[in-house]
Amino acid sequence: MIQQDKFGNQIYYSKFKILIETAKKLQELNYKESFKKQNLFFKKTGEGCMFADMRGTDEVPIWEDTDPLFYWLFNEDIPYWKQRRLIEEEIKIFIKRKCPFRVSFDVHDNPIFNFENYESGSFVDFEGGEFDWENGFCKKCQKDFQDEGSFCAECLKSNNIV
Ligand SMILES: [Zn+2]
Repeated sequence: MIQQDKFGNQIYYSKFKILIETAKKLQELNYKESFKKQNLFFKKTGEGCMFADMRGTDEVPIWEDTDPLFYWLFNEDIPYWKQRRLIEEEIKIFIKRKCPFRVSFDVHDNPIFNFENYESGSFVDFEGGEFDWENGFCKKCQKDFQDEGSFCAECLKSNNIV
């Protein structure tokens, strides 16, 4: 950890202490600190990489909001429904383990939000841990159908969609 943001500004110790506590929690969740970019934590998986960034941003200096910025980078072959599921699973772990995080203001512009039902009534609240989106589980019968869309083929066919 370094007592500076990514622009070289000094972080007051009262705030830095909070970052150190958050770093401990991140390590419990198997995040590692980058060697080259201190205060940037990441977790590599088979599908890509999750990031928890405490270096601050242009818009939000880290002393204004000490919560790490959560973002992701998936391998190109990972379909969006699966990306959504993996993000959802990860966020729910953060919440369960009381590890602070925030997401970017423009997170909804991310390509994972290009799904059929998003504009019309889906609800996603990262901080609240609510993910009413298309994650490959059927909204009717909960089958793990592993594809885009809200419903599995059987439910679509039998047309018993509520
Ligand atoms: Zn179904």
